Amino acid sequence: MKRIGILTSGGDAPGMNAAVRAVARKALSSKLEVCGINYGYKGLVEGNIFEIKEKEVSDLIQLGGTTLYTARYPEFAEKEYQLKGIEQLKKHGIDALVTIGGDGSYHGAVRLTEQGYNAIGLPGTIDNDIPFTDRTIGFDTAIQTSVEEIDKVRDTAKSHGRIFVVEVMGRNSGEIALRTAIASGSQAVIIPEKPFDVDEIAGIVKDARRRGHEHQIIITAEGAIHAQDLTDQLANRGIDNIRGVALGHVVRGGAPTASDRVLASRMGSYAVDLLLDGQGGQAVGIEKGVITHHSMLDLFDSKAKTDLSMYDLANTLSY
Ligand code: ADP
Repeated sequence: MKRIGILTSGGDAPGMNAAVRAVARKALSSKLEVCGINYGYKGLVEGNIFEIKEKEVSDLIQLGGTTLYTARYPEFAEKEYQLKGIEQLKKHGIDALVTIGGDGSYHGAVRLTEQGYNAIGLPGTIDNDIPFTDRTIGFDTAIQTSVEEIDKVRDTAKSHGRIFVVEVMGRNSGEIALRTAIASGSQAVIIPEKPFDVDEIAGIVKDARRRGHEHQIIITAEGAIHAQDLTDQLANRGIDNIRGVALGHVVRGGAPTASDRVLASRMGSYAVDLLLDGQGGQAVGIEKGVITHHSMLDLFDSKAKTDLSMYDLANTLSY
């Protein structure tokens, strides 16, 4: 192995740049050449590939988003496009690859590995919804950003004795919502994994108001119910002075937290170790503080587990 490629794919996440930097630095220090591939698998197929020299990953660790850009490119699920990607790998002399993205991106990595181009996956997604890892790169930053925004909402909520329903990201996973609810001291949290009853939530809000909690924050994950819908439904149940706010894509941006930078650095370096060891089709994770790897094929058969003890804790502490 002489030269490796790096790409970011799927939804962007803070810390992707820190991961790219770590992969590049570790590879360069191991006397490998490194290429960046812009726009994920789309850029691979189109040959949007450039060599990364030592200096080019300076000043990168603190940047949000991904400077390698990312793209959704469903075409890559088709063999024809995978072969076009492989032609480009050949043309640029790339022997192996690190993919930073979600489990969709891992499918592309498996296809390349099957064709003789070892690919390692790093979990780059704010959603924390990948099996075999306690945390994904970007998750900590997404919670931190959500909490900072909610602290601001709380200022105005308090000033007006108002209730705010705040929507955070999470189409299928309540992981961001749960941590955010605990860290922002919310009154209630709604996640896709748990059925909910608007009458019950209205009861919680009214009861808390009776006990003197004039202003309250309710967190909802976008996949459970949108903030405005819940606000309307609660207003229809006689709750006044209530507003809905959707944080939206704000949650995905911003400089990665120190914790995400460290995680990305550890995982990036580990990915190169796996490639140097001749391995491919492996997904890197962190389990109980230790960096680990698992076959992507095993990962596809598993489902990420939402930590529902956080749900119980959020509800207990909201009393
Ligand atoms: P994520 O990686 O965040 O889960 P996606 O599911 O959109 O995001 O996947 C990212 C990209 O990975 C897709 O746009 C596509 O290029 C590639 N990909 C997804 N599924 C497959 C598949 N079955 N085979 C090959 N490539 C895939």
